[in-house]
Amino acid sequence: MIRGDAEGEIAVIGLGASGRAAATLLCREGRAVYASDGGSGPGVQTAATALAASGVAVDVGRHDLARIARACLVVVSPGVPPSAAPLEVARSAGVPIVSEVEVALARLPGVRYVAVTGTNGKTTTTALIAHLLRALGHRAVAAGNIGMPLSEVALTDPLPEWVALELSSFQLHDTPSVDPTVGVVTNLSPDHLDRYSSADAYYADKARLFANAGSQSVWVLNADDRAVTAMATGVPGRRLRFSVGDATADAYLSADGRRLELFGSRLLDRSEFPLMGDHNVANALAAALAVTVADGAHHAPEARARLADGLRSFQSLAHRLQVVGTYAGVEWIDDSKATNVSSTAVALRGMTRPTILLLGGRHKGEPYTALAGPLRRVGKVVLAYGEAAPHIVRDLADVGRVERWGSDFAAVIARARECAVAGDVVLLSPACSSYDMFRNYEERGAEFARLASQASP
Ligand code: ADP
Repeated sequence: MIRGDAEGEIAVIGLGASGRAAATLLCREGRAVYASDGGSGPGVQTAATALAASGVAVDVGRHDLARIARACLVVVSPGVPPSAAPLEVARSAGVPIVSEVEVALARLPGVRYVAVTGTNGKTTTTALIAHLLRALGHRAVAAGNIGMPLSEVALTDPLPEWVALELSSFQLHDTPSVDPTVGVVTNLSPDHLDRYSSADAYYADKARLFANAGSQSVWVLNADDRAVTAMATGVPGRRLRFSVGDATADAYLSADGRRLELFGSRLLDRSEFPLMGDHNVANALAAALAVTVADGAHHAPEARARLADGLRSFQSLAHRLQVVGTYAGVEWIDDSKATNVSSTAVALRGMTRPTILLLGGRHKGEPYTALAGPLRRVGKVVLAYGEAAPHIVRDLADVGRVERWGSDFAAVIARARECAVAGDVVLLSPACSSYDMFRNYEERGAEFARLASQASP
């Protein structure tokens, strides 16, 4: 059960989808709930009206800090930074703070879950796991950071049998009872340095995945990533490894790059798996391994055949190396979800044609120098735009053509079109967050696709 589950009012901070679902869940149990949101947009208003109708006390456009300080528990939505006033107040009043995931976990008895964390590839791996579980005939959903709040899953009837649960470092920070059937760590590299004081502090939150590890725990780990291996050293439980190069791993890509192997025999050919890039092969190996070890029955030959079919039928997710069009022989690829340097580096590694790279947005603190190697191989020109442009120009000065642009995205796209000739690729893989120019990465990707199609005859 959640800590602080004493009598008294529970404060829910944030009225997005997860806050709304958590408040509904608690209210349904007869708990007194106060839910507030500093914003007052239409989505918040709609949520507030619905919650008020079910008996939740609601504030829109403000938080009653004194009331929050008196609460027995604070439930925080992902996206609310730890420095937000309601959380500061709760901490100084000694009120326990938990994520909506924590609230939901306590209310999903008998539901097994595969938890996925890491710096990159979480959403793809989580979606793959849910897809593979469904391919095996289970009632399975993907939830958590991927979009569907876990509290919303807890409100469904009947409950699913399995959840593939994506957990960000922020969610892990406030989910003390996390104890998955299988836990997956995709990879680790510095990220979110705008919200964490150091990479170590960020890794420490990721390591909370192991908080309740015991001899029954099962972990699926990236054998190619030293930071992952180091983090899992000494953690109790069974440890399984996936790799895109190491044939001693439990799941790996064969040295000739042709076959995905699982427990020593071929699962499927690389050419049968539809997604671009070796990083997606790593995600597929992690997912297939996690689903196989999640239940003894999944080792059967028939289950294995279904897993392979599941990998064959998986479709690439939007804004992740998604080809949005080919115009005048130029391929336009939307990788707007690449919001850190390492994800842009893997995208570049997957490119085989001269590439015009759109790089920029809100700078998150990491240097861009790691992109120099892959850019020397395929980079034709880098269009640096948005707030990060001066940092990019400075860090990549030695690479060749790097142009500094402002915050007019249409002008950046027009320039990309000018630079491109048939056979080239225009790649939006910004390595930055979108918030200086867009509401989110989805809007950035959609705008890229729209302008790409309009700019072309
Ligand atoms: P997350 O949910 O962790 O942000 P996604 O699956 O949404 O991960 O992918 C985000 C971006 O990260 C992709 O656009 C891709 O460039 C990169 N990426 C995906 N999988 C991996 C991986 N296994 N290793 C490194 N980078 C990856």
